[in-house]
Amino acid sequence: MNYYEILGVTPDSTQTEIKTAYRRLARKYHPDVNPDGARKFKDISKAYETLSDPKKRSQYDTLNGFFKTEKTKTSSRQAESEYRQKNSTGTEKKQENRKKNEFKSSDKKFSDIFGTIFDTPKQDKKKPEPVNGKDINTDITISLAESVKGTTRTVNVVHTELCPRCHGRKFINGSKCPVCSGSGEYSIHKRISVKIPANVKNGSKLRLKGEGGEGQFGGKNGDLFLYITVKGTSNITYDGLNILYKVPITPYEAVLGGEITIPAFDGTVKLKLPERTSSGQKFRLSGQGLKRNGKSGDMIITVSVEIPKRLSDDEVKLYEKLKKLSADNIRENILNDE
Ligand SMILES: [Zn+2]
Repeated sequence: MNYYEILGVTPDSTQTEIKTAYRRLARKYHPDVNPDGARKFKDISKAYETLSDPKKRSQYDTLNGFFKTEKTKTSSRQAESEYRQKNSTGTEKKQENRKKNEFKSSDKKFSDIFGTIFDTPKQDKKKPEPVNGKDINTDITISLAESVKGTTRTVNVVHTELCPRCHGRKFINGSKCPVCSGSGEYSIHKRISVKIPANVKNGSKLRLKGEGGEGQFGGKNGDLFLYITVKGTSNITYDGLNILYKVPITPYEAVLGGEITIPAFDGTVKLKLPERTSSGQKFRLSGQGLKRNGKSGDMIITVSVEIPKRLSDDEVKLYEKLKKLSADNIRENILNDE
């Protein structure tokens, strides 16, 4: 594999592109981050050492027959690359020798280097087609509080890429590719820290451009899509910036009214119930909804009278007393709309 392939760039790549590619790969394969990446990291470093130095790079290009493409010469370059593919029988040994030659001749004059090329048979210089990285989808569950305030998550992403060595062909010169053991691909585990913005809704999809599978040989990176689930939303829904909140109240709270405390995202909110509140009554807490672009929605609370699950005998006795005392027939006019 040549230095350009190792870094996933092309002989036409600029120094900046090479630097960017190197940094990205070095981050991924640094042995501190990736215990399996030691060998790859060594290859990457070696490739970068040569390609980042314009003088060494030009020598490397000359020795290995890399040419910069000029837009007008595309067709002849294609022909050349096809020719190379048909004649791709370069072996490891030849590459090794050539590397030795390269380092030996680094202090020689250009004519000497040129001489070396003529002595050695042409090596395999296939330029692989760019492969775009795949999109990756992943699910993230966050709490209500996080959905309102925003949060960060570390996402573990696994994706497979074409083997950089055999380019998915599985075999090299008739033997199993040593890098992928003949599978043609390899898996990469990435940990990405993701910022989830405030006011994210249940079911929304976030796109992180370029954080998906990495493009190879100059291909584009895929995107990472996060599908957000907001946990525990049965009592809370959203309407634009408004938060619609279903809140239970007890029968005595409904009758007597007064201030009740309701759990909310930032702790609690307080609501003043009037006396004789009925189920289904709505209360608006202005400015307590979602906030976006300087605007705030409201929190709209719908109360429902619910009977506590645990009632003591004393409580039940009091209800029996209430029953005897009750004078008003609540269903008397049920069929008469007023
Ligand atoms: Zn392979």
